[in-house]
Amino acid sequence: MEIVSTIKEVRENVKKWKKEGLSIGLVPTMGYLHEGHASLIVRAAQENDKVIVSDFVNPTQFAPNEDLESYPRNLERDAQVCQQSGADLIFHPSPEEMYYPDAVTFVNMTGPSDELCGKSRPIHFRGVCTVVSKLFNITTPDRAYFGQKDAQQLAVIKRMVRDLNFDIEIVGCPIIRENDGLAKSSRNTYLNPAERQAALIIHKALDDGKKLILDGEKNSAAVIAKISEIISAEPLARIDYVEIVSFPDIKVIDTIKGDILAAAAVYIGNTRLIDNFIIERQCT
Ligand code: AMP
Repeated sequence: MEIVSTIKEVRENVKKWKKEGLSIGLVPTMGYLHEGHASLIVRAAQENDKVIVSDFVNPTQFAPNEDLESYPRNLERDAQVCQQSGADLIFHPSPEEMYYPDAVTFVNMTGPSDELCGKSRPIHFRGVCTVVSKLFNITTPDRAYFGQKDAQQLAVIKRMVRDLNFDIEIVGCPIIRENDGLAKSSRNTYLNPAERQAALIIHKALDDGKKLILDGEKNSAAVIAKISEIISAEPLARIDYVEIVSFPDIKVIDTIKGDILAAAAVYIGNTRLIDNFIIERQCT
């Protein structure tokens, strides 16, 4: 496995592989890798001849008041996870390598990026779509792997790929959780022991909401109220949003039918965590 930091080096590898007729899978990450990321890399290695993992804390998807500076970074550890999971190349660029200082071109979306995290983090998906487009152009993969942990992001990327005719298959992968149910996240490292315990409420509340729906509840507001009530009972938790939307077009719905995404963003202390579930039911 090789670690490179320039676009030129990535392109040299890609060119060589394509000449040999090899397929390429891309796993875009912001690093500080855990088993969630590893599951994407393992899947990419199963389905492609070569796997590129990008490891880049993308400044354009952070607002000035967010955690860009403090976001955890550890390339050495990431390299071990990548190696063990079957990656061939880590692309670890500097912000200067990825962005011209006078860049004026961005990929902007409306629709699926407007709700949920798009409401709380207005520039977030512009940054995500821009960096992912750049990574697609740099690595020209056959397939790219994204986690359902960021379900809205998965929907946004799929829509962008369709709308902009990227010839890339987008593969969605299930949420990997800790044994006690907390969705694995690089941001979990911010939590102190009391917060780590309190964070369990997010998955528990969503699970109770899911049971309500599976028992026949069709009223979004009732399910959202139930989930919110459970989360609000935890003193260390502060709700950013709890929402139910159609999936994958991410439109707010009053009545639960068809494929839906229930998603929550919750501050535990100062740490903003997200989690969700999807229910796929074409005919109800
Ligand atoms: P990040 O480094 O947080 O930007 O995540 C990079 C990719 O890993 C995204 O596609 C995420 O959805 C995915 N990912 C992060 N956490 C998990 C998890 N717990 N389970 C599955 N995929 C995940």
